Amino acid sequence: MISLVVHGGAWNIPDDMVQAHRAGIAKALEIGWKLLSNGGNGVEAVEQTIRSMEDDPTFDAGRGSFVNALGEIELDASIMNGSSLRCGAVASVQNIQNPISLARLVMEKSEHVLLTGMGVVRFAKENGMMQCSKDELLVGRELERWKSLQSKTRFSTKDAFKADRPSDTVGAIALDTAGNIVVGTSTGGTPNKYPGRVGDSPLIGCGTYADSNIGGVSCTGWGEAIIKVVLAKTIIDYMDMNGADGDTAAKYGIDRLAKKADGYGGVIVLDKHGKPSVCFNTPRMARAYRTSEMNSTVIEV
Ligand code: ASP
Repeated sequence: MISLVVHGGAWNIPDDMVQAHRAGIAKALEIGWKLLSNGGNGVEAVEQTIRSMEDDPTFDAGRGSFVNALGEIELDASIMNGSSLRCGAVASVQNIQNPISLARLVMEKSEHVLLTGMGVVRFAKENGMMQCSKDELLVGRELERWKSLQSKTRFSTKDAFKADRPSDTVGAIALDTAGNIVVGTSTGGTPNKYPGRVGDSPLIGCGTYADSNIGGVSCTGWGEAIIKVVLAKTIIDYMDMNGADGDTAAKYGIDRLAKKADGYGGVIVLDKHGKPSVCFNTPRMARAYRTSEMNSTVIEV
């Protein structure tokens, strides 16, 4: 059994952006699926799947990301291998085209889990990763959004989510032929965020979690709320301790997010057998999945 599930954000995706979301997640899934079906490992499949969405300006990850209050782009990403529980993450990193690849380097080439600030730039250089210019990440749509937000006296992240502002983070979960479950998540965070703000996406247990004996989870939505309920690990624990299936556990997680933290968002879940589940409490969520038991890919927005 092999399986791959991806998401490209949960929010009120406007009608005129639906097609771009469908195309972006379909292309990403195809890239990962090809790797997995040729016997490739889950880490490579998740990295390449997410890189494709980071390069696609449709999403709030890599190129196309939201801009912070100072007009800068700060990116968060994480990846976790559910067999070894090894994980790597980067937070508030600037001038990096594919933060998911840097998170993978942290997982594989450092003894740490999460790097930030000057250290992460140094680590990228030491490992031969080129920095890009801000212009390679910034798109006109987000520059305009940032300009319009500067005229507001106060802008809170919660207001952003209430007003259906985009939460276009990307994520992927793979089950490979060796039975490894691997999860990755990548984001530009929230619009006009305070410089240095870190969301759920690079925090293991909050935006990302994998345990090959149980399953994997990648989250999107209002990060401050997701952190409060440690959403990814909460769903994994619910599957583990209550023997819940992925659908029930995903729903439990989103209910908890709403009840405990007044939060909005969506999750993709893969159980240890490779069965995908999705749950969200936003008007739309971009998601796609395929398993070796299916003849074609399901793409839904
Ligand atoms: N969860 C992300 C964050 O708060 C945002 C998103 O999902 O789009 O940084």
